[in-house]
Amino acid sequence: MSSDQTTILIVEDEPAISELVSFTLRAAGWSTQAVGDTAQAWAYLQKRTPQLILLDWMLPDQSGLRLLSKIRSDRNFNELPVIMLTAKSMEEDKIAGLDHGADDYITKPFSPRELAARVKAMLRRKSPEHAQSTLTVANVRLEPSSCTVKIDEQKIDIGHAEYKLLKFLMAHPERVFSRGQLLDKVWGDHVVIEERTVDVHVLRLRKVLKQAEGLIKTVRSVGYMLSEK
Ligand code: CA
Repeated sequence: MSSDQTTILIVEDEPAISELVSFTLRAAGWSTQAVGDTAQAWAYLQKRTPQLILLDWMLPDQSGLRLLSKIRSDRNFNELPVIMLTAKSMEEDKIAGLDHGADDYITKPFSPRELAARVKAMLRRKSPEHAQSTLTVANVRLEPSSCTVKIDEQKIDIGHAEYKLLKFLMAHPERVFSRGQLLDKVWGDHVVIEERTVDVHVLRLRKVLKQAEGLIKTVRSVGYMLSEK
């Protein structure tokens, strides 16, 4: 199950802050991976792609900014959301961070509540399927905190793959996705499955949605979309 968990990479060398951040994010429903310098962060990124990075500015081996530049110049990561954690509150430093491709920054000291809210807002903007917010479309409600789907307030039985597919489509309503995009976004790029597997899961998803099955539209020769229209 770990591969489909939303993971946030924390790059922070101060153990007390790293622990506080991990604790806060885990309590909000995400999983975390903490490293203490840019070399470990880069090594981690060669194996896994997190959904967001919280990056400290002052790190023992290199500055967080250097790592940020490296991340942004790699086409695998150029859309990866990065929030800088910084003790620097100088205006020019904030601008430098944003110039290097940071999506947001949080100035230390910060409250855990503010941190969680900023992370949630960022994920909602960049990848809503990871924001852990309740999703509602028509009479279908999906609750990530409990991994449940309800239709007209009635909980339904849904397989894991169908749940992930539904979550992704509900997070991006009215948008068409090709089979390849769905494989990539829902199953991740480390998984090798054929495109027609997507059709099988869509078929199963429609079946469990019963009267709400019409929400999942086939867009001929393109792919699928979730639409109320
Ligand atoms: Ca530091």
